[in-house]
Amino acid sequence: MVRHVIPSSYREALVHLRDGSFHIVAGGTDIMLKYRNAADLPPRFERDVLYVLNLDELKYIHVEEGVWRIGALTAYETLLDHPEIPDVFKSAWIDIGGPGLRHVATLAGNIANASPAADGIMPLYLYDAQVVLESCAGSRTLPIDAVITGPKQTAIGPQEMIREIIVPKHDFDVATWVKVGTRKADAISKVSFCGAIKVESGVIKDLRLTLGSVAPTVIRARDLEATVKGITLTALEARLDALLDAYAARIRPIDDQRSTKHYRQQVARNLIEDFLKQQIRKG
Ligand SMILES: Cc1cc2nc3c(=O)[nH]c(=O)nc-3n(C[C@H](O)[C@H](O)[C@H](O)COP(=O)(O)OP(=O)(O)OC[C@H]3O[C@@H](n4cnc5c(N)ncnc54)[C@H](O)[C@@H]3O)c2cc1C
Repeated sequence: MVRHVIPSSYREALVHLRDGSFHIVAGGTDIMLKYRNAADLPPRFERDVLYVLNLDELKYIHVEEGVWRIGALTAYETLLDHPEIPDVFKSAWIDIGGPGLRHVATLAGNIANASPAADGIMPLYLYDAQVVLESCAGSRTLPIDAVITGPKQTAIGPQEMIREIIVPKHDFDVATWVKVGTRKADAISKVSFCGAIKVESGVIKDLRLTLGSVAPTVIRARDLEATVKGITLTALEARLDALLDAYAARIRPIDDQRSTKHYRQQVARNLIEDFLKQQIRKG
């Protein structure tokens, strides 16, 4: 029989995790579905369950010099209310579920669930966020790309939990989010996109693009981004087709119940093209 444990402190949660045998439940909006049972029966958990959502110690947004620190159990609605969180994060997070869900669901849950279609994590890749993992043995800080290693796979050890997410501040001229789903609300992404740019005197200082739902993990091609840093928007226009082809080679979507490989490939290309052409027109 599985044990159901509600720790009264974060420290106590880490001590329980030392066994390495617990499922962590935060908002429960992914994991309760994963282990759901027939109507009126409790979920079919395979291991002991640690319910952490009551741990107020991990509900915070600290605005510091150069970074925001987001406690792992901070619900999306709290993040959406914060005046200093950039709009690109809020646009992505407000597209997640409905208000009821967003009052309990967490960004840490979105990370640890590691879905290729996750929306919450997309701006984290754009901003080069880092994730602090902690256990009784200590803590380590990993870039978001190193935490999510594949579909439903992470580098989070069985004795660890996410303590906080560190988001560096950036002063992009534009940072944008687009979600393509079946409906306007409460839809799983078929394709998702974030783009950000910083231009000075017509020269690209920074350009970042992330794509979701089109590969086993979020695509952020830093090597391709580097090829356009330092060039003018006019030069970007001349290289646009080559850049789009290079991204197309990185996009590896699948056919599933929500969409087709071909549709995702084409829409992802269109989203990048639209974003870049908008910036070129402004230049
Ligand atoms: C109706 C509905 C609509 C949804 N819509 C969207 C959507 O539009 N976009 C989207 O991206 N997602 C969506 N989701 C999925 C889900 O709401 C999000 O992924 C959410 O961020 C999960 O957070 P949670 O706190 O509920 O995670 P939980 O379900 O509690 O946990 C998810 C996983 O993360 C692990 N975990 C949780 N917290 C920690 C931690 N601190 N440290 C280590 N591991 C941890 C758990 O063990 C579990 O494996 C939807 C879900 C539902 C039910």
